[in-house]
Order: sequence, then structure tokens, then C-alpha cells
Amino acid sequence: MTAVFPAAQIDISALQHNLECVRAAAPDSKVMAVLKANAYGHELALVVSALAAADALAVARVSEGVEIRARGCQRRIVVLEGVNNSEELALAERYRAELVIHRQDQIDLLQERERSASFVIWLKLDTGMNRLGFPQAEAAVALNRLREMPQVVQPVNLMTHLASADLRSHKMSEQQIHSFDTVCAKETGELSIANSAGLLAWPASRRDWVRPGIMLYGISPFADQTGADLGLKAAMHFRTRLIAVRLVRAGECVGYGATWTAKRDTWIGTAAAGYGDGYPGNLPSGTPVGVNGQRRPLAGRVSMDMIAIDLGPDPVGRVGDTVTLWGPGIPVEEIAGLAGRLSYEVVCGVSRRVPRLAEKEKQTTRS
Ligand SMILES: *Cc1c(COP(=O)(O)O)cnc(C)c1O
Repeated sequence: MTAVFPAAQIDISALQHNLECVRAAAPDSKVMAVLKANAYGHELALVVSALAAADALAVARVSEGVEIRARGCQRRIVVLEGVNNSEELALAERYRAELVIHRQDQIDLLQERERSASFVIWLKLDTGMNRLGFPQAEAAVALNRLREMPQVVQPVNLMTHLASADLRSHKMSEQQIHSFDTVCAKETGELSIANSAGLLAWPASRRDWVRPGIMLYGISPFADQTGADLGLKAAMHFRTRLIAVRLVRAGECVGYGATWTAKRDTWIGTAAAGYGDGYPGNLPSGTPVGVNGQRRPLAGRVSMDMIAIDLGPDPVGRVGDTVTLWGPGIPVEEIAGLAGRLSYEVVCGVSRRVPRLAEKEKQTTRS
């Protein structure tokens, strides 16, 4: 790895491979790649250029859309939470962001703009998740208002979000899709329902657009499968190095709280990464890390900047060797499971002090 460590190496070709997997799963849909929260921690700028083949990009907030547009990206950008005030609306107009509308007062804001403005709109329907959107009973009124507004590009597009698409046998997705269809039956705008789990598990949710996030990063949306099981490639390789290796005698302890005791004489490696880097601080002893192609267990508690690894009596690593925290051979899904967290949270949680580095030979500069 590079001289900088810890580092999150972002595998550009893995991102591109995962986009191809989306295309294969939903061949008749256009792809709105979801890049919110710094592209799920993978660094927005890197992912925007890596996924140059995506038909549109989606972010949660206007500020994220501005960041993409300001880099010269000319693609469609959709703001999933829409705007909350006239300042955000002005930014959205200036940076040509498409807006999700999920509240009446967002329509009021639009109506206050000059009639010459033209916004591409995605009306968000709440089909049961009860997070954002117009319930079925209020959708017609909202649609009628939007239809008559010169500020709105016609026809209006419609979308909803699935609450339990990752649960393959849960009835809710079918009900949500049905509810969406009830409202959209006569609409001519573009339609979108599916997130990653939806497009993989619920064929009926693949409409004009799919909105994959997590699977683009090579991570499975399902609890019982890893990204690799689904043919995806991990986009983030979170790596560091051993900065100390010492012999610990049987009966001696390692780390804060002396929670780990050597059962035999063994070599303990100290690696430079801890919860201050976003490596989950509650990971237990025994959590695997990769050292020279082998899985070795954490010994004792995670510190802010360091972890201890049992390298064995015949140590598998030396000072300077690379340690894989997650990435090839160490699925982030496994680490998240051991930490009792979602993979989404774990990749989003990699701290700012960890540089994200595009894997050089494969780097692309298109936007
Ligand atoms: C985050 C998000 C997605 C992507 O979901 P994944 O589970 O990461 O595929 C799609 N649509 C909306 C509205 C979202 O907020």
C-alpha cells in the first residue's frame, strides 16, 4: 500500500464492476447512483468520476449536489430530501439540481419562484414507510398543483422508497409497490421505486429508474449474504500497517482493561488504526484482520489510534507490513456484524483523517 496509512483505498474498477451488476439485474432501467454521505464514505469526487456511466446521481441534500456540480459534472443530479427554504431552492436552480418534493410547503416555495424557472421534479409518495412523502390520499392534490405550475418541467416524475426490501419474504414491499401503482396508474412521468435490495429482490420494483446505493460499493443489502455472494466487489479497502511487534508471554495481558490474556507465548502486532479512524470501537477480541493473506484475530480492545493483533507464535507479519481492516478477504459485512452495526454505518463512519485514495493504475478522470 501507499506511504500513507491508515488509508481507504477506493477500487475504481470495483465500483464500475458493481454498476455493471446493477445494469445486469435491471437491464431495462436507468441508473440513479446514490452518492449521499460522501458516497457512503468512499469520497464523493472519486465516486462521481468512477461512475461516469451512471445515468444520474442522487444525493440527500442540496449542498451535496452543489459539490458535485461545482466540480464540472454535467449529469442529472437528484436531491432526495428536496429543499427546506428559498436559499436552498436558489442553489438548486443555480446548480441545476432536480428536486424531490415530499411536503406541501416545498410546492409553496416553488410557486414563489419566477415563472421562468424550470425545475425537474420527483414527487415522493409515502407508500408505507412513513418517513418522507405524500400519502396516497394527498398525492392527487399535490400532483394537480405541480401540473399547473410554469416553474415545473412536465410531466412530473414519481418515486417512493421501500422500507423492507431486504427482507425477501416480507409482505410489505408488494403492498408498497401496489400502493405506488394505484397512484401512478395514469401518470406519464418517469417512475422509480427500487433501492439496491429492491432491484435485486423485487423485480416489480424495477421501473424507469433504479436507485442503487450500497451495492455500488460492493456491499450486500441482505443480512444473510455478502457482496461477494452477490457477485459484487468491495470498493473500499481499509488498510493500515503494523507499527510494532512484540513477544508476549503466556499469562500476560494486552490492551486497555487487560481484557485479553495470552494463552501461550505469542507475537502481538500493533497496527495503526482505531476508533478514531472509524474502525468500530466495540469490536471484540477475535475479530479478524488480514495480515499477509491470513486472517488473524484482534487481541483486546480497540484503542483510539491502534489495535493489537495476535500474529501467532510464528508471527505472520513484521513492522511495516500491511493490515487489512476490511476489503478483500475481510468482508465489511462480517466486521459490521461483529460490531452489531449495519455495513452502511461502518463505511460511512470512516473518519476524516483517513485519506481516500483511488487505486492508481485504474484511476479515471472523467466526470
Ligand atoms: C439511500 C437511498 C437509496 C439507496 O439505498 P441503498 O439501500 O443504499 O441501495 C435509494 N433511495 C433513497 C430515497 C435513499 O434515501
